[in-house]
Amino acid sequence: MAALKVLTEPNPLLRKKAVRVPFIDKSTQKLAADMVETMQAEGGVGLAAPQIGKSLRIIVIQIPEEEPFAVFNPEIVKRVGEREVTEACLSIPGYEGLVSRSISVITKGFDYNGKPLRIKAEGLLAQALEHEIDHLDGILYPDRIEDKNKFFVVENRDEESLITCDGNSP
Ligand SMILES: [Zn+2]
Repeated sequence: MAALKVLTEPNPLLRKKAVRVPFIDKSTQKLAADMVETMQAEGGVGLAAPQIGKSLRIIVIQIPEEEPFAVFNPEIVKRVGEREVTEACLSIPGYEGLVSRSISVITKGFDYNGKPLRIKAEGLLAQALEHEIDHLDGILYPDRIEDKNKFFVVENRDEESLITCDGNSP
């Protein structure tokens, strides 16, 4: 495994719609493993393949205190409710925003071994799934903020607060 470099705005690869993974094999599994390592090295809650320059529909997520996991070809099939949450992104360092997200979502896709996966999520996991799947469509969280007063520079950011980001903030 290897930690990779995370692309930041305004890299055009972040704006490209990613393509479906045709099959899950050793090379896509290695990519997912590298993404997990990168996410952990950067202290993120999630990472999408376009963020490391691969235009493929793969996301990885790790909720604090839980095991990391990958979803290949993830798709949100149901969204319920609406709430406003604080969000940040490894590709937009130094900023945070208030974004409207669903209260709960159901996501379908395939796991690391290629088995079909169905995730019922709420809270941080639902937020992370929406944030990371947006990346696969070239959408970054500031796109979802209409009121520009809700997108701001995070000042006096120390090492510790950097450890919480992508998809979430403390
Ligand atoms: Zn992000």
